Amino acid sequence: MPLGLRHNTLGERRFVGVACIPRGHDAGWIGGDLDNDVDKYWMAHALRLADEAEALGEVPVGALLVREGEILGEGWNRPIQSHDPTAHAEIVALRAGAIRLGNYRLPGTTLYVTLEPCAMCSGAIIHARIARVVYGATDPRAGAAGSVFDILTGERLNHRVQVLGGVESGEAASRLQRFFKARR
Ligand SMILES: [Zn+2]
Repeated sequence: MPLGLRHNTLGERRFVGVACIPRGHDAGWIGGDLDNDVDKYWMAHALRLADEAEALGEVPVGALLVREGEILGEGWNRPIQSHDPTAHAEIVALRAGAIRLGNYRLPGTTLYVTLEPCAMCSGAIIHARIARVVYGATDPRAGAAGSVFDILTGERLNHRVQVLGGVESGEAASRLQRFFKARR
């Protein structure tokens, strides 16, 4: 396995991090604790981005950043192609969104990602002040939204992120399984 990070993952577990909406972060807020058609719509887009990664031989994970129904940034996992260990899908999407907005902070945004974010990406999500994270499959090997670490949903940090997992998780997990099976 090239990364040692992403791994086969399954899970229909719904994990909702209880958190307040940061003050001033209500723009673009979708609301609700359960996934809805809007979340599924954007997750379908993230899955298409994951397919781009897979086509390039990268672990299939896709991510996009959305605010008020508009995509601010998107990307897929590409550490091998980029020679960049930080080039996870979330980081690629965050960087694109920050450049687009001309701001290192991204309040009021929702990040959609097909796999539970790792510790690195969760740190970046908090630094960027992202309001909400919606992910697909859980990552029992490296997930930092409760699976292995509790960075996104922990109470120690000032910034709170609302987290919803398990949206289209079967689609996300099947891509990962197919990828790793083909490599064995
Ligand atoms: Zn990551």
